[in-house]
Order: sequence, then C-alpha cells, then structure tokens
Amino acid sequence: MNIVWLEHVFKEYALGEQSVQALRDISLNVENGAFLAIAGPSGSGKSTLLNLIGCIDTPSRGKIFIEGQDISGQTPDELSELRARTIGFIFQTFNLFPVLSAQENVEYPLLQFRELSGTERRSRVSEYLSIVGLSKFANHRPNQLSGGQRQRVAIARALATQPKIVLADEPTANLDHKTGEGILQLMKDINDSLKTAFIFSTHDRRVMEMANRLVRIEDGEILRQDTGAEGKSETLPKV
Ligand code: ADP
Ligand code: MG
Repeated sequence: MNIVWLEHVFKEYALGEQSVQALRDISLNVENGAFLAIAGPSGSGKSTLLNLIGCIDTPSRGKIFIEGQDISGQTPDELSELRARTIGFIFQTFNLFPVLSAQENVEYPLLQFRELSGTERRSRVSEYLSIVGLSKFANHRPNQLSGGQRQRVAIARALATQPKIVLADEPTANLDHKTGEGILQLMKDINDSLKTAFIFSTHDRRVMEMANRLVRIEDGEILRQDTGAEGKSETLPKV
C-alpha cells in the first residue's frame, strides 16, 4: 500500500516579477515502510518536494495524498493534526532548541498530545533516546553534544510522536562521512524494526547507496527511479 502519492505536482515560487518553477509534473508513489532517497544537485527541488509532502507548503498544481487523503481538501487545523501525528522531520542543521536538554527537545512535540500523561511522555522520551543510543546524554544541551549526537536527538524527536513517515532533508550534509553513515545506518535500522517510512534527500553517493529506492531529480523533474545497492526494493511504480 502507498502511504504517500503525488499526482502531477507543480510548484512555482513568485520571485519579484519573475517566477521560479521549482517542481514540474512530479508523480510519485511511496510505499508503506519505504527507505527512499531523493537525490539531486543543489537547487533541483529536493527541499521543495519534502516540504510539500510534509504539508509545510502547498503545490501550485496537482494533488498530494497522504494515507489516501487528498491533503488539498483539508483545513489548516486538519493539516496541522496530520503533520503532528503522521509526519516527523529531520533537518540538515538539526534544528534543536539550544536552551533545552536532549530529553526536553525530544519531549517538546509530545506536549501537544493532550492524551499523554506526564509519566507516559517521559517514558516515551527515554524509550526513543535509548533507541538512538543517547540515554546517558539525556541532560546534555545541544552545545554539549557532537554533530552526530545532535542529529540522533533530532531523530529521537522525529520518532517520539510515532509517525508513519519521517522526512529528512539532507540529514548528513553537516556531518563527516563516517558520522553521516552512522546516522543513515541508524535510520535504516529503525526503518527495519519499526517499519517507519523514511524519505530523505541527499547529494552524497554513499548515502544514496543505502536507500532501497532512489528517485533522481533535476531542475524540478524526476529523471529516473532505481533500486538501491541491496536490490531489496519493492516493484517500481510507473511514473
Ligand atoms: P534543493 O533543496 O534541491 O537545493 P530547493 O527545493 O531548495 O532545491 O529549490 C528549488 C528551486 O526553487 C531553486 O531554484 C530555488 O532557488 C527555488 N526556491 C526554493 N525556495 C524558494 C522560495 N521560497 N522562493 C523563491 N524560490 C525558491
Ligand atoms: Mg535543499
């Protein structure tokens, strides 16, 4: 089953008198539990595509479905609910709150879930800090952590809401190769064990090779779709 699909999506940004065509006619299916890389050079439209899937922005034309629901038909409240419960985000620059500890950063998105008691929230936080191997660093603030550890906190924060999809925009771009591979491996292990779908963008070949499926994008268009190095991908849909 597909968790996300896009039908003929276009995105145009107005830039003064001019307009920039950031995405052109993107059609894409993402299966439940996918580990999908969006690869392309800088300016090719990767962030735009992830922002549209993450309901942070809306397409100029075309339709986006998440869990079978056409998101263009949703009210702003419904969209923010969908974002909060279905989607987790990981960013290139980690985007942690500098004054909050690792555990407070992970707890933050859970505060909006009224149904969770304080005890449930804290146990959720320790569970996910443990999954990313940071239990001992729970009280550290971001500036007391390495880049790789900060990204692990961001992964725990993205997962703590138990989303179906995690969107990661160049999650390894600010890390050295070895640390970046560790982060990707962690994401892949979580994908295997929790079945959370990951869609991540990259222009790092080694990161692309870890994907189960690769979608190449250039000048806002999908070039072609490949299976990853391990070849254990699903059947590729026609786009
Ligand atoms: P990537 O993430 O692959 O580097 P982006 O999605 O950020 O690419 O950008 C795709 C294109 O859209 C680029 O030409 C970029 O300059 C343009 N763009 C992105 N965001 C905006 C914006 N808010 N306003 C105007 N143009 C934008
Ligand atoms: Mg980008």
